[in-house]
Amino acid sequence: MQTEKTDVLVIGAGPAGTVAGAIVNKAGYKVRVVEKMKFPRFVIGESLLPRCMEALEEAELLDSVLEQSFQRKTGAKFVRDGVICDYSFSDQFTDGWDHAYQVTRADFDKALADGLEAKGVPIDYETTVTAIKFNDDGSSVTTITDAQGDEKQIEAKFIIDGSGYGRVIPRLFGLDKPSNLPPRKAVFVHTKDVNRQMDDEPDRITIVVHKPDIWVWIIPFATGITSVGFVGDPAFFEKYSGSPEEIMRSLIADEPYIAERMKGIEYLWEPRVLQSWSATTEKFFGNGFVLTGNVTEFLDPVFSSGVTLATVSSQIAGKLVVRQLQGEKVDWEKEYTEVMMQGVNTFRSYVMGWYDTTLHTIFFAKDQNPDIKKMICSVLAGYVWDTDNTYVREHDTALKKLAKTIKLRDSIEYINNGFK
Ligand code: FAD
Repeated sequence: MQTEKTDVLVIGAGPAGTVAGAIVNKAGYKVRVVEKMKFPRFVIGESLLPRCMEALEEAELLDSVLEQSFQRKTGAKFVRDGVICDYSFSDQFTDGWDHAYQVTRADFDKALADGLEAKGVPIDYETTVTAIKFNDDGSSVTTITDAQGDEKQIEAKFIIDGSGYGRVIPRLFGLDKPSNLPPRKAVFVHTKDVNRQMDDEPDRITIVVHKPDIWVWIIPFATGITSVGFVGDPAFFEKYSGSPEEIMRSLIADEPYIAERMKGIEYLWEPRVLQSWSATTEKFFGNGFVLTGNVTEFLDPVFSSGVTLATVSSQIAGKLVVRQLQGEKVDWEKEYTEVMMQGVNTFRSYVMGWYDTTLHTIFFAKDQNPDIKKMICSVLAGYVWDTDNTYVREHDTALKKLAKTIKLRDSIEYINNGFK
């Protein structure tokens, strides 16, 4: 079997793989990427966060993205029973990017992959990793199979696994672990958006609360196409039957805000269904490898954290791989796992707070404290590593405390009004 050599083998050419590959390549090491699919390929995950832009910038892939003229995203709007809570990234606690983009992932991922190839990093498309053997010194021999079924071996000093839902290393080495989040389901479609309001609508994601644990995304793209998806408890979807299009039309008809917004729209393809995506792994690194992006842990789509966690994990891991290749001792647990878990756990508290409605109480409260709103906005912008932010540092308690205060204030006001 033919054997080739590289310094670093990257599995997957999604946002995680391309950012990691670019960072290692920038330091002068030989990188090779293997990607199972042919690009462009569809993947969901279309609303980016400002923090993600910093990772793209450091990977020197930002220009490839900007060339695509994607829809600029300046905030996130939450809607419940006609009440709107709007977060603008220009009004946030952390000093960071005030915008991101809403992207068709087929184009976004292709732009990143092409940008990486333009830097001289080869990507083998339609090539799948089928086996990996690690040596005691951390170097490895990976077996790959191309579209013709031909096998090849790649010897690498280090492997970065950015294989997303493919979860290559966790699956090959039995590292998969169930997530502590309950299973959820999504039904989504791209639409030809005839009702878009040009004044403010396209420049943000809109999240509509349909039921306490069922929500809908509206993500407008620059092309006039808009992505719409329902997400929540799989049991909720059981009462809907028929073809995917019939199910989607019934879902939309049952939510007044979406029914009005999506009146008369045409679907560009048959609605798709995804279910039970949350998963995690025993460890984020090992002797000769690191996992980045969705392979580590994917929580939930509600706060659009996926691509940000994918790119930031690769930004951090890529630099650690470089230091290790340069002969430095890297404390992977402290410098990678603990750092990533800080971000993941912050988002986890917000995801849990969303589904148990703590965040509904906060988002739809009257007379919101502007300083607190700025801190929460920074979390929604992906700045979940800024521990100067109380709503990052105390993510597991601060939201609950705030919701309790709001409820108490509302009860007192109600009693006072009752006595008037
Ligand atoms: P991927 O994008 O999945 O890329 C991994 C690549 O690895 C793929 O191209 C795959 O083909 C390749 N691969 C797999 N197996 C192999 C193999 N054996 N050999 C070689 N290559 C392989 N995130 C957001 O940021 N914003 C959102 O609005 C958002 N919405 C979402 C909605 C839903 C319903 C879901 C389920 C997720 C959403 N996400 C969102 C999350 C987002 O999809 C992921 O977090 C993101 O795609 C992770 O990027 P990645 O690079 O880790 O993995």
